[in-house]
Amino acid sequence: MRWFKNLKINTKVMLTVMLVTLVSLSITASLFLYVGYQNELDKTLQRLNIEADILALNIEAPVLFYDSTAAEDILAAYALDKAIVSIQVIDGNGEALASYTNAHSQNMPGEKKHIKRDIVLEEEKIGTVSLIMSTVEAKQHIRLMAISMMPLLALALFAAFVLSMFFRRAITESILSLRDLSAKVAKTRNYSLRARVDSHDEVGELSTVFNSMLETVQQRDSQLESQVRQRTYELEKLAEEFRHRAFHDALTGLPNRALLNERFNLCIEHANRVNNHFACLLLDLDDFKTVNDTKGHDFGDELIKEVAYRLKSIIRADDLVCRLGGDEFVILLADISDVDIVDKLAQKVIDAVSLDFTVKGELVKTAVSIGCAIYPTHGNDAVTLKRHADVAMYEAKYAGKNAYRLFSPAMQEEVQYRAMIQEGLLGAIDAQQVELYFQPKVISSSGQVIGCEVLARWFHPTEGLIPPMRFIPLAEETGIIVELDYYVLRQTCQCIANWQQQLPEPMPIAVNLSGRHFHNFDIVDKIAEAIEQTGIAPELLEIEITEAVLIADPQFAKQVLSNIKKLGVTISLDDFGTGYSSLNYLRALPIDCIKLDKSFVTQVDQSEQDKRLIKGIISLSRGLQLKLVAEGVETKQQLQALEVMGCEIMQGFLFLQPCPEQSFLSWLNTQPHHTRSTPSVVK
Ligand code: C2E
Ligand code: CA
Ligand code: CA
Repeated sequence: MRWFKNLKINTKVMLTVMLVTLVSLSITASLFLYVGYQNELDKTLQRLNIEADILALNIEAPVLFYDSTAAEDILAAYALDKAIVSIQVIDGNGEALASYTNAHSQNMPGEKKHIKRDIVLEEEKIGTVSLIMSTVEAKQHIRLMAISMMPLLALALFAAFVLSMFFRRAITESILSLRDLSAKVAKTRNYSLRARVDSHDEVGELSTVFNSMLETVQQRDSQLESQVRQRTYELEKLAEEFRHRAFHDALTGLPNRALLNERFNLCIEHANRVNNHFACLLLDLDDFKTVNDTKGHDFGDELIKEVAYRLKSIIRADDLVCRLGGDEFVILLADISDVDIVDKLAQKVIDAVSLDFTVKGELVKTAVSIGCAIYPTHGNDAVTLKRHADVAMYEAKYAGKNAYRLFSPAMQEEVQYRAMIQEGLLGAIDAQQVELYFQPKVISSSGQVIGCEVLARWFHPTEGLIPPMRFIPLAEETGIIVELDYYVLRQTCQCIANWQQQLPEPMPIAVNLSGRHFHNFDIVDKIAEAIEQTGIAPELLEIEITEAVLIADPQFAKQVLSNIKKLGVTISLDDFGTGYSSLNYLRALPIDCIKLDKSFVTQVDQSEQDKRLIKGIISLSRGLQLKLVAEGVETKQQLQALEVMGCEIMQGFLFLQPCPEQSFLSWLNTQPHHTRSTPSVVK
């Protein structure tokens, strides 16, 4: 039946109608023919019975007289009757008197019937007539009937076919249109289409259900569509935000590094096209870390925002200012025909950033260092330009900050040199390339040496002697200074111990400590350890710190200093007068000595103002009972001027340049008997 299932519904309906018609017609015709056949048989049997009766009467005489010829003649008369297969006449003796056989009928297949009649004369049986009947005739009759029914059958089938065509449409039309509609909906996804309902039968119901299904789908679809529209809108908004985020700095809203890179390429293309220059300025706020450390990151962020706002207001619409991160900004100046324009803008930026900022209701000062590289003079691509601007910026920092520098190839060499130093510094302590140099502190009037200061020297394997000014700032930047100071501290304590054996009087030695030590208490442990390991008297060790130590977290630094002081170590405030010189520190901190910076000493015999300042510091130190050491004394004039003002302890090339241990000890031998007494406390 699979083949039937796969047929088109039209064909199915047609075939069904035709088959049903055929089967019912066949059954009807068969019934009709069967009944006709039985009728025909009955009729023949009835006739032959009558004929047998007549024959039994007619044959009485021949049988009575045993006249077989006459009997045969009588039988011959039945030769025309095809229904008779044979007749036999039996006489009174039971013998066959005459017989007749229809040769044609005899050989015909089929059922045969016997009809027997007694030949009776005056109520006495004188013989028998036996007649055999054939059904052939009836069959032939029926066959004829069947043949004549054929056209009728064909006509009936044709009529059924025509009718099936007619009804088929009525039945299948709505199903097929439903099918077409489903296909259209599936293809176009147009759920607003509806099926026609034009009957109340199952197909009509199906169409109604189908329509309500479409209705639901349409509602869902429009719901989904509006959801999708909403989602798409949200996604687009989000994508826009992401795009903005990707190209802008979250804190300041300025373009970021990614956008800068894009703009760099555009600037390069444009400059090439119009054969012009553009400038890349790299900006870095000075000492921003201090602001972050002292005021907190929130405050730092607010300051960055204010700076960004000021930068934006300075540059032209065509130019770009972006934040690289931290306190670094880049300005791209398009179409530069003259370097003067860059110089002027850089100065404008420096001036603008130098003005006070109000952050969280507080007035703050900051400054900026700017480096600049110009395309194509200083580089053909963004990376080179940025690197060269960075080199120039570093140069500006190196030159004292709050400055602007235009890149020059010479700077590059300097940077390379610095990089080389920085690299070598890492292994310098382990490789024992760091050596201690000593410089005495002398009472100028008597020439007595009351102590000395240790200054580190680095002997680079290829560069030779590298002075502290070159490597100390780098060591500070990288943090190596911490290890370096620990090393110098240990060596110094060892030296104090050694010298105790060699010198008639113990010699106090001062070491310089970086501000980096004052963020935790490690240095206290290190000092205690060094003192303990060498067994020296703690008061022979001095530490020198600068005011910068106290800036980040004065309270914490004060605690560290107090702990160092508790160890019995002497503390000096170095480079006094150069930094913030907050006189409050002098009162609040456990300081024993202040070291007047050499910049005052250099000017002491010339500048009246410096003289006044030195006098002030001297009277201050007296008032606070602090020792005072004047650094950097190079000439006799300076010495005299200082002496006149009441300064007694001095340090400088005039007495001795910093030198190695042996040289220092040799020099010491040539000096008047040195003593530990401290007449230097200025009263
Ligand atoms: P500082 O502590 O102020 O040291 C004094 C500096 O002045 C030394 O420079 C010394 O050589 C120099 N000096 C002394 N007398 C004169 C003079 O008459 N004229 C001139 N022009 N200069 C004089 P130096 O040795 O180059 O050290 C520079 C700075 O490096 C030191 O300044 C100190 O801050 C730092 N430093 C040196 N060694 C160390 C160290 O081991 N640890 C730390 N943290 N810093 C160190
Ligand atoms: Ca010093
Ligand atoms: Ca100093």
